[in-house]
Amino acid sequence: MDPFRLPRAVVPSRYDIRLEPDLTTLTFRGEETIAVSVAEPVREIVLNAVELAVDEAVVVDARGREQWATVGLDEASERCQLAFAEPLAVGAGRLRLVFRGTLNDKLRGFYRSVYKDPSGVSRTMAATQFEATDARRAFPCWDEPAFKAIFSVTLAIDPALTAVSNTRIVSKTRDGARKVARFADSIVMSTYLVAIVVGELEHTEPTLVGATPVSIWCVPGKRRLAAFGQEIAVASLRYFEDYYGLAYPGDKLDLLAIPDFAAGAMENLGAITFRETALLVDEQAASHAELQRIADVVAHENAHMWFGDLVTMSWWNGIWLNEAFATFMEMLAVDAWKPEWQRWVAFGVSRAAALSVDGLHSTRPIEFPVRAPREADAMFDVLTYEKGASVLRMLEQYLGAEVFRAGVREYLTRHRFANADTGDLWAALGRASQQPIPAVMDGWIFAPGYPVVSVSVEGGELVLRQQRFTYLAEPLRWFGATAAPAAAPARWQVPVRLRLAAGGRETVERVLLAEPETRRPLPAGFESVVANEGGHGFYRVRYDEALRERLLSRLPSLGAIERFNLVNDAWAVTAAGLMPITQYLDLTARFRDERDKNVWSVLIGSLHTLNRLVTPADRPKLEALVRDRAAPALAALGWTPQPGEDELTRQLRGDLIRALGTLGNDRAVQARAAELYAGHERGAAPVDPNVLPALIAVLAHAGDEGRYHEFFERFRTATTPQEEQRYLYALTAFPKPALVEQTLARTINGEIRTQDAPFVARSMLMAVHSREQAWDFVKKHWDTMDRLYPKHGLRRMAEGVVGLATPELEADVHRFFHERKIDLGGKTLEQYLEQLRVAVALREREGAALSAYLARF
Ligand SMILES: [Zn+2]
Repeated sequence: MDPFRLPRAVVPSRYDIRLEPDLTTLTFRGEETIAVSVAEPVREIVLNAVELAVDEAVVVDARGREQWATVGLDEASERCQLAFAEPLAVGAGRLRLVFRGTLNDKLRGFYRSVYKDPSGVSRTMAATQFEATDARRAFPCWDEPAFKAIFSVTLAIDPALTAVSNTRIVSKTRDGARKVARFADSIVMSTYLVAIVVGELEHTEPTLVGATPVSIWCVPGKRRLAAFGQEIAVASLRYFEDYYGLAYPGDKLDLLAIPDFAAGAMENLGAITFRETALLVDEQAASHAELQRIADVVAHENAHMWFGDLVTMSWWNGIWLNEAFATFMEMLAVDAWKPEWQRWVAFGVSRAAALSVDGLHSTRPIEFPVRAPREADAMFDVLTYEKGASVLRMLEQYLGAEVFRAGVREYLTRHRFANADTGDLWAALGRASQQPIPAVMDGWIFAPGYPVVSVSVEGGELVLRQQRFTYLAEPLRWFGATAAPAAAPARWQVPVRLRLAAGGRETVERVLLAEPETRRPLPAGFESVVANEGGHGFYRVRYDEALRERLLSRLPSLGAIERFNLVNDAWAVTAAGLMPITQYLDLTARFRDERDKNVWSVLIGSLHTLNRLVTPADRPKLEALVRDRAAPALAALGWTPQPGEDELTRQLRGDLIRALGTLGNDRAVQARAAELYAGHERGAAPVDPNVLPALIAVLAHAGDEGRYHEFFERFRTATTPQEEQRYLYALTAFPKPALVEQTLARTINGEIRTQDAPFVARSMLMAVHSREQAWDFVKKHWDTMDRLYPKHGLRRMAEGVVGLATPELEADVHRFFHERKIDLGGKTLEQYLEQLRVAVALREREGAALSAYLARF
């Protein structure tokens, strides 16, 4: 018997669940009647339960015979075994269970969230988070995605509280001192999508999308922050009904902001839960980046209502398709809602993050076989979300948007209320496009890595060659290496789009590069060529020097995403040792006139990496280089928004100020930032919301104890989630060691929520001024952090070791993980260590050249 799959002799079709949470004792009681179908005359029923006490279990079988079960609970396998004296009759039966549990503080299963109300009094609410396998912590169930059933939920609660679940309330009654709310039957769906929230809640007036009321829910006092989230919720729901050609599958749509939430959000059908920063915002006081985050997350979760909820993966190996698709749809919906945001250009940043991890030997295929559900835990990463979405976008562009959508519609219609696999989507897209989809896609999905396409002119011909891109020539040797890395294909089917400029004209050509090399004659009057035209391809391009120079000399003719890729690919091949660092630094000088915030983000990101590599003596020179590159752009933009200026330019202004005031250590920028911040605080001269977060970061970078305590108080008393985040992360930027120590202590003393603390520690590991102290702290308190943080907290935090880019720290990192035998799930740790090696290798290889280059500053 497979220890990870429940037997199918008895399967559920409907759950009638009643739960009574008690927010004072932090416990809950429950009872449920499950309609089951018995396929074989077994004497045992096996389902999932963990950290629950089961007090009664009775079955009534198809012959009407009632039997009490002997209950066995196995915590290790998270199973509940019900043994009966007589075999169950084949046919329809009913299983009744009575159980108890606690409202835990681990942000999973049925858990408690504690927050302060507007008068500063501590309040408690209860919420659920079930994906992947934590529904079994709230009620015994067949907790696998393929066991879809109808859920009828009843909640008996304190009359002062409010309850929300997946569907509308159909009746409200009293039971003694309790108020009882019964919810309508759900659609047939998986256990991990059930949601329950109980607390003091308020909600917005619903907006109708067709017959579906859409509302935002939050703790009292925050409804004023709900309008923006509601607007994108409504817009994206409309967009998806149209795109999918299917009505929204629920009877209402509630979006709930929960003060403690481990992930960003969770796509429970009809009751989507969010961390507050991903849903609530004061639109007038927020930066573009903060607004885009909310639009993205809301659209992403709404996309799941169909892709994931209506049609669900059969098993956890399919989680990538769920997430990749929702990420892809999120871009489409936000792009349609606010075209001026140029969402697909900004997606370049996400694609770049995936290319970075997928350029490691320790990467993995997007999809791989999963036996135990926890093997899929490590799937919640950039390869699933960002690489997955990138290859879907590449496929969509290759097939054409209409054909792609037709395939998606057919897939959803065919498999609705059921489960499906990757192959089912390829089959549907294949029927829509009349093309062999698996032949094109399998190399991208079932194999690790991606190609770099080299473009050169040789003997009057344009030559394209593909080979796998990796940063290191050889896989990293480390203590945990057990097997050789998964083999990458010798070549991919690369849909290459070329834009050729010749004789004053531009033409676009599509080439499916399936061979290691292809050649074509150069057109007469050849001027230049852009490979990966439009930037949708998931591969890198390496131009020969002459071709790169031709593009650099005509940058304004390139699209923003093409300029982004030009920089990003050049930086990657530099990190891989295929281009000298001096050439890359020369290249950055060509972008002083750049006005796209995404292109600037890759430029600034690469300079941040160099900052972790340079010697302390060279750091002031690197700061001067940063000023040399970025100051002209800020000077041209000015410090205050111009009338009619677009949102992206405003955000760029904030990004440049932040880069100059921190990485560039620009005294004039720091002084100006202090002046503007003071004026803003006095109410004398409000600062643009895109600039204000940058001012806070700059002041922290140059700040002392007084400023630290001021900012800590602002963090504690913040009135919006965004304000809270700005001041929280500002605490990580104060350079004084005593202040670094204080912030580190706050990651484990309860002053920073456990949903945020791992990320705070991560950013302190990444920053040059704090990394050594942070690393010492993390080593010392690893077990405490492991105990306090939610499930994926340590994995997120440990990513910070990538910033420990000195040979000494690298050795110490290996020693620590080796001695402690730490496993972060999947290939996560191996990937962090390899990324660290890439950085240290760059330092070893190019340190002298970098130092010589910086001598001129
Ligand atoms: Zn998702």
